[in-house]
Amino acid sequence: MASSTVRINLDGKPINPLTILMIGAGGFIGSHLCEKILNETPHKILALDVYNDKIKHLLESDSLKWAGRIQFYRINIKHDSRLEGLIKMSDLTINLAAICTPADYNTRPLDTIYSNFIDALPVVKYCSENAKRLIHFSTCEVYGKTIGSFLPKDSPLRQDPAYYVLKEDTSPCIFGSIEKQRWSYACAKQLIERLIYAEGAENGLEFTIVRPFNWIGPRMDFIPGVDGPSEGVPRVLACFSNALLRREQLKLVDGGVSQRTFVYIKDAIEAVLLMIENPDRANGHIFNVGNPNNEVTVRQLAEMMTEVYSKVSGEPALEQPTVDISSKEFYGEGYDDSDKRIPDMTIINKQLGWNPKTSLWDLLDSTLTYQHKTYAEAIKKRGLHVLAR
Ligand code: NAD
Ligand code: UDP
Repeated sequence: MASSTVRINLDGKPINPLTILMIGAGGFIGSHLCEKILNETPHKILALDVYNDKIKHLLESDSLKWAGRIQFYRINIKHDSRLEGLIKMSDLTINLAAICTPADYNTRPLDTIYSNFIDALPVVKYCSENAKRLIHFSTCEVYGKTIGSFLPKDSPLRQDPAYYVLKEDTSPCIFGSIEKQRWSYACAKQLIERLIYAEGAENGLEFTIVRPFNWIGPRMDFIPGVDGPSEGVPRVLACFSNALLRREQLKLVDGGVSQRTFVYIKDAIEAVLLMIENPDRANGHIFNVGNPNNEVTVRQLAEMMTEVYSKVSGEPALEQPTVDISSKEFYGEGYDDSDKRIPDMTIINKQLGWNPKTSLWDLLDSTLTYQHKTYAEAIKKRGLHVLAR
């Protein structure tokens, strides 16, 4: 992007080049956000993470057009005295760092709570003390279960959006009992949201909180046994991709009846860029970022992914592409689930004029094309590709 181009924001104000500290820049969302910022803006990124595999392509060569605008810091924010200095050097801090895979919430609840609450505390504190703006990544999971899920199965009210659409400023946060350790993540995220909100109210912290609703796309998580642990359980996109790549059945937890709305990462990242460049419209707000038009049950997702993957790979689907599994067997003791997640889009629409564009079919098409190109050969080479039985 030419440095001489004058860019203006939604209010017609010039956008000055920023220095952005991105914590968790090496993850799924961070890697896409780095790409977007480097390709389309003049901003500088201080990219902080313990890993950088997903942004290696952005760091490798000095000859790239964004040379000098991204600097990687291999830092664990749990214990590194450089954190405050980096926050002071930046105009804006974006915190993406977290343990955020459901398989960890009930099996590693302490790590989950420390990562999502305790480790985020110094980031909030240093931003507040140094009068620096913060964009913090929370989750749609802070809503927990819908009110509608507690109604009798045959109640007509279950069809009323008032009982299931999730609104930033009015919906309650409904979690399960303490033994259901699934909610350790949601609860930690909720408390850090409350702390950030209180820092805003009492100490004037300029903040924006993002609640992603199932953002998916290339580079999400890992394929077990290829670029992640063989026994690891990633989020549903990678679990289903892994099964498709290996010609195994897709496992439907508790029948796959839970519902989700999926948004394409490239659409979602546009919303984040709008937040970055429109502070007057984004500060003090909590934003749902999702695609209410892309709702499916997990079973429907499995069916659609099977169909898309067959088209992309040219291989016929298995005769029985899915198999049911209990949550206890799949995730272990203490798992529980969000029943339905439809984001209300009023606030992000009003403040930033953002709308998602990509249909579920199209986003699965481009994502599974990427998965196939990236992993199919590696899986075959390792002899992990089980031929159709
Ligand atoms: P991710 O796991 O791909 O990225 C998180 C990154 O943070 C990783 O690269 C990890 O190495 C880094 N990190 C974690 N702890 C760290 C530490 N102590 N020090 C330094 N780096 C650390 O996850 P993601 O999908 O990119 O999610 C980013 C954020 O968005 C998270 O806060 C997550 O809770 C939130 N979120 C994402 C989704 C989604 O749909 N992807 C949904 C809800 C919430
Ligand atoms: N799920 C599934 N099979 C899998 C992985 C996940 O049925 O192999 C289900 C999971 O129980 C949940 C949904 O898919 O109902 C979405 O799971 P994900 O891990 O993506 O995270 P969540 O949306 O729950 O935060």
